[in-house]
Amino acid sequence: MTSVHELIRAAAEREATARAPRGRPAGPANRRPIALRSTGASSCDAGLANDPWAIDRGPGYGPGASAGDAIPGDAPRQGPLPARYTQASEEQLHEWIVAAKERLGQRVRILGHFYQRDEIVQHADFVGDSFMLAQAAKASPEAEAFVFCGVHFMAETADILSGPEQAVILPNLAAGCSMADMATIEQVEDCWRELMSVLGGEAGPDPASAGPQPAGEDRQRAAFESSTDAAAAAAHGAKRGVIPVTYMNSSAAIKAFCGRNGGIVCTSSNARTVLEWAFERGQRVVFFPDQHLGRNTAKAMGIPEERMPLWRPHLPLGGNTAEQLRDARVILWNGFCSVHKRFTVAQIERARAEFPGARVIVHPECPAAVVEAADGAGSTEYIRKEIEAASPGDVIAVGTEINLVNRLQQQRPDLTIFCLDPVVCPCSTMYRIHPAYLAWTLESLVAGSVPNRIRVAASVAGDSRVALERMLAARP
Ligand code: SF4
Repeated sequence: MTSVHELIRAAAEREATARAPRGRPAGPANRRPIALRSTGASSCDAGLANDPWAIDRGPGYGPGASAGDAIPGDAPRQGPLPARYTQASEEQLHEWIVAAKERLGQRVRILGHFYQRDEIVQHADFVGDSFMLAQAAKASPEAEAFVFCGVHFMAETADILSGPEQAVILPNLAAGCSMADMATIEQVEDCWRELMSVLGGEAGPDPASAGPQPAGEDRQRAAFESSTDAAAAAAHGAKRGVIPVTYMNSSAAIKAFCGRNGGIVCTSSNARTVLEWAFERGQRVVFFPDQHLGRNTAKAMGIPEERMPLWRPHLPLGGNTAEQLRDARVILWNGFCSVHKRFTVAQIERARAEFPGARVIVHPECPAAVVEAADGAGSTEYIRKEIEAASPGDVIAVGTEINLVNRLQQQRPDLTIFCLDPVVCPCSTMYRIHPAYLAWTLESLVAGSVPNRIRVAASVAGDSRVALERMLAARP
């Protein structure tokens, strides 16, 4: 099995000598590795081939799709790994992971995100998107610990949904998410205060902030029931001015903010259902942090782009006039995914020119023009199902993260599947979970210590759970 890591290494070696010629693969037997098929051999950053822990010592997110994004000053740093791990060969690391996992047995479950490299995913007990993995944690009461091979906000969600005695561990603390980091709780609270100064007078009943707040589970139940009250109020024409909605890819603090303020969480699978839920209760939505998912979902619901102002957190009123905000239907936070932002209409045109009849499917974190030019757009689950349903010989160009695309091709060798992005460019932060960190984490657990535990404070977890439960109740 050719992993993206191997592809990157090969690409870097080739780039050092000469650029390979472009060529169309003649058939399954002589295909080039999928990630390199479109360009010959190219990676987005030569640093991807460097030693993997070097990226944790330098500033920024490291090489890969998020390399150009500004990392928050308070982002956690991973301490240096013992030399035993940094100097081990890939084979040794693999053996240590297998041996430690065997010793830990059912006590420890490894959760692997779809975008993780193959060297990690092969050890996972569950593979899925962030919410599927959090639900897997919730459905595994027998486990004492979960090793979450993904990024920080995902481990937080798993901690919120798992039992209080169960530990959720992030093997590399520096594995954040550049999109989630584009909205801090302080910025979101400032935004809300400013929105209230313009729209607060329009607000209908806000049961979450009315009267004394009960504690603990009673507080959660009251806040959850408030969504029903809000719906009843809405039926009588008393809709609130604005409802906060946050994408799963946000910090627990922002999920909790939404829970406290009559808002809700969404995933890329249920964003439309969640927006419909919000519009039953409010006149507008403020959508954190991914502008593209918010815009694509609202456009599909028939909302014109001119009623979707962008909120730039460093500008007064987010860079808008009070009139623009009053006229808005969806206020979009100025965040984006650096992986999905790379996809362009020109790439789609090239794919169609090279493979006439190819079907193009993309993730809704891509810009609106890309979603419009594609044949279909949807969550990772949607992309997986489209590929599952394809007929042998079909050609499918996919606009999502390279590790997932590569794996989908391996699972369906009877199809031609390739990434729209003509270079190998994985998510920088997902890439930080190297097998050395997984080996170190598992061996630490065998030795009786619990490294890198992610703990969400009880008050934050309670309010986040409210927003998550509203999402579950708003199915599908
Ligand atoms: S792919 Fe995008 S949204 Fe997902 S973890 Fe990476 S930066 Fe964040």
